[in-house]
This record gives sequence, C-alpha cells and structure tokens, in this order.
Amino acid sequence: EFKQIPQRKIPNILITGTPGTGKTSLAQQLSQSTGYVHHDISLLAKEKNLCDGWDDEYKCYIIDEDKICDELENQMNLGGNIVDYHGCDFFPERWFDLVVVLRTNNTVLYDRLSKRNYHQKKLTDNIESEIFGVILEEAEDSYKKEIILELENNEINDLERNLDLILEWIKKWESNQK
Ligand code: ADP
Ligand code: MN
Repeated sequence: EFKQIPQRKIPNILITGTPGTGKTSLAQQLSQSTGYVHHDISLLAKEKNLCDGWDDEYKCYIIDEDKICDELENQMNLGGNIVDYHGCDFFPERWFDLVVVLRTNNTVLYDRLSKRNYHQKKLTDNIESEIFGVILEEAEDSYKKEIILELENNEINDLERNLDLILEWIKKWESNQK
C-alpha cells in the first residue's frame, strides 16, 4: 500500500566514508551549528544492542542493519538528522537529501588509524579501501549522483571548509522548500 509521506521541512544528511576520514568530527560540528541530531550508527548499535554478532576478523560488532533502520525510521521522517556511518547501502534511499562522502589521502589516514591501535589487517584493508574509493562507489550505487558531495578531509582547514559548504547547502535547500 502506498503511503503518502509529508515532505520534510528540514533535510537529513548522511556522512559516510572510510573509518578515520573524519565523519564523527564533522557530524559533531554540524550538529552543534544546526541543532540537527547526530546519529553515530556504531555507537547506537552498541548502546541499544542492535547488533548481529561479533566480527572476529575486524574485532568489532556486526550491526543489525534492519534493526538500525527500524530504530531510526520515525525520526528520519521528521528531518533534521545527521547519520554517521562507514557504510551507506542499507539505508532507505528516500531518507537522505544530501550524502557526504569524506576522503582522506593514504598517508594521513594511515597516521589517524595507527593511533586507534587497529591491528595490521584492519589497518591495511581500510587504507586500501580508501585508495580504491570503495565507499564512494557504494554511495554512487545507492544514491542519485546529484545528492552526493565528495569532500577532501586531510587537514584542519578542510574540516572548516566542509562545514561551511554543508551549512551553505542547507540554506539553499531550505529556501527551495518554501
Ligand atoms: P571517523 O568518524 O570517520 O572514523 P573521526 O572523526 O573519528 O573519523 O576522525 C578520525 C581522527 O582524525 C580523529 O582523531 C580526528 O580528530 C582526526 N581528524 C578528523 N578530521 C580532521 C581534520 N580535518 N584535520 C585533522 N584531523 C582530523
Ligand atoms: Mn566515527
């Protein structure tokens, strides 16, 4: 049955990218500047026990994608959400008005991930994944290319510029809704 969903008055934004590209840092700042709700999906899965086992190779919980989507559905319909996760293909496409894919060069990413005490395989897999642009490709397979914004995030200036770009995008989006 087709259900008419009222148009959101404020947008939902997905911030995705390889671990270490700076999703959470950007999402936190964006949340502070806008009042939008930041959903760190890995944290949410842990806190609300929306997990589906333990990944022994990567030493992390496997999130239950269906439970995560059920958990967020009502809030997403209201708008004003920032979703932060290193994957993007299991969320409903209709949730997002903007999909930000953060990119980081491999030497910078290597330094950031080394500080997290990732074991060697997890480290090199993530670096490789970033070099090949795996998450960007996943985003391109899952969302219209008009709503995808690929942003470099290597140094601190990038963070501020990216924040400003997204705030500008929000202004435009909101004025287009009127
Ligand atoms: P993610 O959530 O994508 O895993 P984080 O936001 O946790 O990434 O950032 C990973 C690390 O990189 C953190 O130590 C963070 O402080 C740092 N970082 C993020 N963005 C920048 C940036 N633009 N310049 C310098 N360091 C950054
Ligand atoms: Mn994070």
